[in-house]
Amino acid sequence: MKRFAAVLLLILTAVALLAVTASAATTTTALSVRTGPGQFETVTVNTASLEVDGQLLQTDVPAFVYRSRTMVPIRFISDALGANVEWNQDALQATITTADKTIVLTIGSATALVNGQSVALYDGVPATMAVLNGISRTVVPVRFVSEQLGASVAWDQQQYLVSITSPKQEPETPQEPETPETPVEPETPAVEPDYTVSIPKASSGSVLSWSASDTAVSPKVFTLDGRVVFDYPGGKLDKASGTVNVNGPVVKTIRYNQYDHGYDDTPYVARIVLDLQTGMTKDDLEINTTGGSVSIRQVGDPRPLVVVDAGHGGKDPGAMYDGYNEKDFVLPMALEVGQRLEAAGCRVIYSRDDDTYITLSDRADLANELGADIFISIHANAMPQKPNINGLETYCYKLGGQAEVLANYVHDAILEAASPEDRGVRTANYYVLRETDMPAILVETGYMSNADECQKLADATYQKALARGIANGAIDYLHAAGLL
Ligand SMILES: [Zn+2]
Repeated sequence: MKRFAAVLLLILTAVALLAVTASAATTTTALSVRTGPGQFETVTVNTASLEVDGQLLQTDVPAFVYRSRTMVPIRFISDALGANVEWNQDALQATITTADKTIVLTIGSATALVNGQSVALYDGVPATMAVLNGISRTVVPVRFVSEQLGASVAWDQQQYLVSITSPKQEPETPQEPETPETPVEPETPAVEPDYTVSIPKASSGSVLSWSASDTAVSPKVFTLDGRVVFDYPGGKLDKASGTVNVNGPVVKTIRYNQYDHGYDDTPYVARIVLDLQTGMTKDDLEINTTGGSVSIRQVGDPRPLVVVDAGHGGKDPGAMYDGYNEKDFVLPMALEVGQRLEAAGCRVIYSRDDDTYITLSDRADLANELGADIFISIHANAMPQKPNINGLETYCYKLGGQAEVLANYVHDAILEAASPEDRGVRTANYYVLRETDMPAILVETGYMSNADECQKLADATYQKALARGIANGAIDYLHAAGLL
C-alpha cells in the first residue's frame, strides 16, 4: 500500500498545486532543482505563499523552501518590486535593475554582484533552476533579493508565508529611457528540440524500454547518487514529466522530465532516471541502446514477487457480524502472510497495509503493473440464510491452470495449520481472479455468519494459524514452480 499511496499522493499534490497559492498554507511537492551543469535532483519541498504589501500573489512554479531558504521565480521579484530583469543565457546570469541598484545573480553561484561589489548569498544558497510539471523557472532566494532592493521581508513559519513590504517609491526618480522594453525571456529557449523521446514503459516480466525518434541517437548514461540517468541533449519527451511505478527486482520507479536548461550546446534535455531498489546498482541492469531504442533487463533480484491482498478496507467493511468487520479480520492475516513470505525469501507488496479503501481494479492493476508472480486475496465469508455453514474455501478463476495448483497448495496447508472445516477448492468469477495476469487465488478463511467460526476468526491466535497456512502453501507452490 505504501508505494501505491505515494503515487496517489503525487497525483493529488500535482492537482492541488493549481489552487494552493490562493490561501496562505504549505503543501509538499516534488520538483527538480538544478545542482550543476546538466544535473538536476528531485527534491520534496514545502511550498510557501507570497504576499506583497498585503496581497497574496500566485506563481506557476510556487515559492518553496530549499536548504532553509525560500526560493521564488525571478519574475515574481521583478513584478512585485518594480525591478527589471534581464537574462543572459550564455552566462546563466540574471541581472536585476532598479533606479539605483544592479544585482547580478549567476545560476549556481553563491556570490552576487551588487552595484559591482561581491556579496555572499545567505547560507550559500545560490540562484538556480526549478522544474515543476515541465515548467522551468529561474528561482532566487527571496530574502536576499528583496532586502537588496530595499524591501523588508517577514516570514511566518506557521503559515509558510513570505510577506514583502515594498520600498516607498520615489516619484521624482527619472525613468531610464535606454532600458530595453522587452527583457530576454529566460524560459523561452530559441532552439527547437531535434527529436522526441517516447515515455518509458515497463512491460510485464522485467523489461523497461523507450525510444528516440532519431535512430542515430543514443543517450548519455551515467549514475548519480545511486540512480541511473539517461540524458538526451536536444531531445524532447512526448510528455513533459511523469513517473512509472515499476517496483521490479532492480528498478523501483522510472521518472522522466523535460529540461529547458542543462547542456551547453542545446537548451533542451530529456532526462529519464531509474530509481533503484535498495542494494541494487547499475550492474544489476542489462542495458541495450541501439537504433535509438533503449531496452533494459533487470537481472539483479531473483526473488519471486507476491501481492498480498487484504479484502475490503476503509469505507468498505466487508461482512459484518457480532460487531466484527471482515476488513479487520483479514488485514492482520495479510500482514502475517507477508512477513512469513518475506522471511522465506519472497518480495511482498500489499494492496493495503492499513485500513484503506481500494477498488478491485486498483488491486488487480497493482499486481499486473508490478508483474507479480502470484496474487493472494484474503477474505472471510458469510451466508446469513445458513448460519450452520462454516469452513474454508479457496477460489481460483478456473480449474486446470497454475492458479488451481496454487489454490490446492494453499488450501491444504491451511487445513493442516488451522484445521477448519474443508469446503474445498472452488472456482468463482471474482474480479481480482479474472483480471489478474498471474496465478491468483482468493481464500475465504471462514464464515462470519457462523457464530462459532466468527469467534475463532476474531481470535489473534487463530488468525495467525490461518496466515501460517496461507504462507506455507504459497511457499510450497513457489518452490514447486521453481520460483523460490
Ligand atoms: Zn470479502
